[in-house]
Amino acid sequence: MKNIIFIAPPAAGKGTQSAKLEKKYGYTHISTGDLLRNAIKEETPIGLQVKEVMKTGELVSDDIITTLLKEKLSKLNNNFILDGYPRNLNQAKILDNIFKELNITDNIVIYLDIDQELAMKRSLGRIVCQNCGLSYNIYIDELKPQKEQECDSCHGKLIQRVDDNEETFKVRFETYLKETNPLLDYYKEKNMLKIVDSKANNDIVFENIEQILTGERSNG
Ligand code: AMP
Repeated sequence: MKNIIFIAPPAAGKGTQSAKLEKKYGYTHISTGDLLRNAIKEETPIGLQVKEVMKTGELVSDDIITTLLKEKLSKLNNNFILDGYPRNLNQAKILDNIFKELNITDNIVIYLDIDQELAMKRSLGRIVCQNCGLSYNIYIDELKPQKEQECDSCHGKLIQRVDDNEETFKVRFETYLKETNPLLDYYKEKNMLKIVDSKANNDIVFENIEQILTGERSNG
């Protein structure tokens, strides 16, 4: 299997699709947002440093997030999904170097395409497990938890992320457009980019991703 790098606006479904791929194919899901949220929860020095920035919806520094990611990747020996990194051109170039250094070669980039209005609706309906990070959505039938406020998988408490509110969502979306969206050209030129329509329901999005992984579909 190829390693997957997801590029997408906030709340486009990266976390949900990653969880499905992890379950079915044994991928390791690396969400840089989760790494940061854990650091905040554990009140590590990095956590204390990034807490306020994350609340605003802007990006944390490249150095901090790269340190966390590198630590994780260097310990890994199976296929992985990168969810949330790279977020800007500098990070994309750093990632090229990390891959070279660690001899990681078989990678594809999947862009989950969604419009701002739908992404905002998903963001505002999202609730996540405080314990394992699994994501649910109160506005989407197939993503509702079986019991209100309780994770189906580990029974942890479901909470709303501090950055899933209208004001912060707008900043996150603008940050995405300005910093992350230009990466699509970067990966297109490298012939690594695949496009998936993320407006469809989760199962269809998942099937499309699977078709790309198995080579049944050559592009978006
Ligand atoms: P996410 O869970 O991917 O939506 O990320 C939540 C927040 O974590 C973002 O709004 C950023 O503040 C921060 N973050 C996550 N990944 C990165 C990254 N690669 N570079 C900088 N900031 C990041």
